Amino acid sequence: MLEAPRMTDPVRPPVGETLDLFYHRLFEAFGPQGWWPGRSPLEIIVGAILTQNTNWQNVEKAIARLDTAGALDWAVLRDLPAGQLAELIRPAGYYNVKAKRLKNFVEWLWESCAGDLEQARERPLDQLRDELLSINGIGPETADSILLYALEMPTFVVDTYTRRMLERHDLIDSTAGYEDMRSLFQLAVRPHVARYNEYHALIVRLGKAHCRPSPRCAGCPLEWHLKSIADGE
Ligand code: SF4
Repeated sequence: MLEAPRMTDPVRPPVGETLDLFYHRLFEAFGPQGWWPGRSPLEIIVGAILTQNTNWQNVEKAIARLDTAGALDWAVLRDLPAGQLAELIRPAGYYNVKAKRLKNFVEWLWESCAGDLEQARERPLDQLRDELLSINGIGPETADSILLYALEMPTFVVDTYTRRMLERHDLIDSTAGYEDMRSLFQLAVRPHVARYNEYHALIVRLGKAHCRPSPRCAGCPLEWHLKSIADGE
């Protein structure tokens, strides 16, 4: 659960203001991140499913193999036997599981939207999110990545880096779940596709450059806030 008192803390800026400041500090430090690294909604969705538990370089190799095989196409993915699909995406790791997840998504796309992403895009965000979450193997981070980066709908993507940043800056406690953190951002930052896109990408950059499992706070764009917490400001 979120720490409700933070919202009304009379000294430290309220969470919304803090998260706004974080965004600007990160953007000033890192600049635009140009996400998502995919050429089409299909590539973005495939990448969002394949990136679970692996690094992006491996995902790129798997996508390149799909491209070479002419399989970056919803109808081809639908008709491709799961075993062949698994073989093509082998570089992404957990390839049998991920092939099944891809198949589940493609099956939903054809059954629910006649294979047309535009039909999905016309649905209300909450309804579509629930539909995606009902697909076996699609969790909230993958669903939100698909919605934000492939379908350009304003939902905030939360990941391990987000939790680390929020927890280390005393904005959530360790019991906060995915939906708590997503709600925190959605309440604090006005829903806006470009802003949510950039903010998540900046947090990933922060997590890779500074807020690692062992934090490198010296020189971090958010170091000033950590100091203000320590000073009780
Ligand atoms: S590295 Fe340190 S200052 Fe930077 S976000 Fe993480 S905890 Fe905060």
